[in-house]
Amino acid sequence: STTAAAAIEEPIKPKVQVEYTQLLIDGKFVDSASGKTFPTLDPRTGEVIAHVAEGDHEDVDRAVVAARKAFDEGPWPRMTAYERQKILLRAADLIEKHNDELATLETWDNGKPYAQAAQIEVPMLVRLIRYYAGWTDKIHGLTVPADGPHHVQTLHEPIGVAGQIIPWNFPLLMFAWKIGPALACGNTVVMKTAEQTPLSALYAAKLFHEAGLPPGVLNVVSGFGPTAGAAIASHMDIDKALAVYSVLEVKLAFTGSTSTGKVVLELAAKSNLKPVTLELGGKSPFIVCEDADIDQAVELAHFALFFNQGQCCCAGSRTFVHESVYDEFIEKAKARALKRSVGDPFKGGIEQGPQIDSEQFEKILKYIRSGVEGGATLETGGERHGDKGFYIKPTVFTNVEDNMLIAKDEIFGPVQSILKFRDIDEVIRRANSTRYGLAAGVFTKSLATANLLTRALRVGTVWVNCFDTFDAAIPFGGYKMSGQGREKGIYSLRNYLQVKAVVSPLEKPAW
Ligand code: NAD
Repeated sequence: STTAAAAIEEPIKPKVQVEYTQLLIDGKFVDSASGKTFPTLDPRTGEVIAHVAEGDHEDVDRAVVAARKAFDEGPWPRMTAYERQKILLRAADLIEKHNDELATLETWDNGKPYAQAAQIEVPMLVRLIRYYAGWTDKIHGLTVPADGPHHVQTLHEPIGVAGQIIPWNFPLLMFAWKIGPALACGNTVVMKTAEQTPLSALYAAKLFHEAGLPPGVLNVVSGFGPTAGAAIASHMDIDKALAVYSVLEVKLAFTGSTSTGKVVLELAAKSNLKPVTLELGGKSPFIVCEDADIDQAVELAHFALFFNQGQCCCAGSRTFVHESVYDEFIEKAKARALKRSVGDPFKGGIEQGPQIDSEQFEKILKYIRSGVEGGATLETGGERHGDKGFYIKPTVFTNVEDNMLIAKDEIFGPVQSILKFRDIDEVIRRANSTRYGLAAGVFTKSLATANLLTRALRVGTVWVNCFDTFDAAIPFGGYKMSGQGREKGIYSLRNYLQVKAVVSPLEKPAW
């Protein structure tokens, strides 16, 4: 639309200044050891927002020393659970108070509509920190009825230093999912943010320190994957000149693509077998059954795919529609995509901002070309929007076949692929024939159909008559190559605790 195009030409200048661009190590903002920086770009224009300190191996080492010291000597794991809880709750209050600054940084660095950053992402970060603050004093061991005259109990203890690597699509939310449970359980953290979106996590981490988090407990190293990221994944020894600690107990939590997930798992195995959780990619089915209310199904399927510029790991990127409602559905899905407002994410009423960077932008356009060449019908979109920045028109393909690249690969962009199916058994088989298993959407009025599908789909989350319903208490993670382990809810605590069995005799000692 002309309004959206005008918005791209005259981007609204964010009112917030970028205050924090250095690495956060041992409670202080510091330059990288090499003194190097890298630019972080505004996806609306491709212009530089700020130059950010570029962390590498040496900086990861410094951060691990600080985190290790904070774990071994600092108060954090030894504080009472209630003390830890109070600090986390204060941090959540501060984040809530700075909602607008954080949301502005998020939109500026990532390109997501401001309303989503301000009303969804930052509030979800607050909710998650409060949720895990609540867990600190509810982590119980067990007394175990073992055979024999012994008193047996288990202690649930923090693991130590948690190395965490996150992507750019929900920078603050990914930050929260990782640090919330790790800190609540008494671990210390070395976090590497995504190179595309380093700004908001530095700001949020500063607020944790203002809330009283001791130095070294949460270290944030901005930088690239093959350098800073790989240094975390393969971390083993610390330079003996820096510290006396040798082999580290490090927990590694990674969110990103399946291909990078394989690399970090290998690095973890080759270094010190650190336990790993992986949250990876997806190609989630969204199944519209013949009894569905079509208007609602169109709206939900549209949201399932286009939310966050299509940059969701769980995006409903294979829209399966029953043949009896297929024609009506595609007409309406096309009309809905045409209505989607694209433009400057700081403007009100905008549903879709730019993609994150030129690499993703080019990758998405390449997939669109492959869809056309492969014989799918391009109903709408398929090209860039405007003449600046990384905007792509909402795109809808119909007559998509299972073997086409657009039906198999994670596009991570605003490209909806609509596939036709005839019966439930067929759609179950086709929905499951993918290397991924992150999520699925099911749209039906029949409880029996919903029950059948929820049990048959090989995925970590099934949304029935809803999609992208997230909460701190709901676990999230993938089957198959979409990941290992679960984040959020009670399940994430398991990632950051280890169990110690303590055995002592019940009988009076002989001595
Ligand atoms: P990516 O794998 O390229 O990068 C993710 C993170 O890994 C970044 O911080 C990056 O710097 C780092 N990294 C890259 N190479 C590395 C290496 N060799 N060693 C260590 N770290 C390395 O993914 P991306 O493009 O930033 O994010 C998009 C992907 O993330 C998509 O596939 C998406 O599905 C996935 N994702 C999954 C979830 C989930 O919860 N399952 C959530 C968000 C995103």
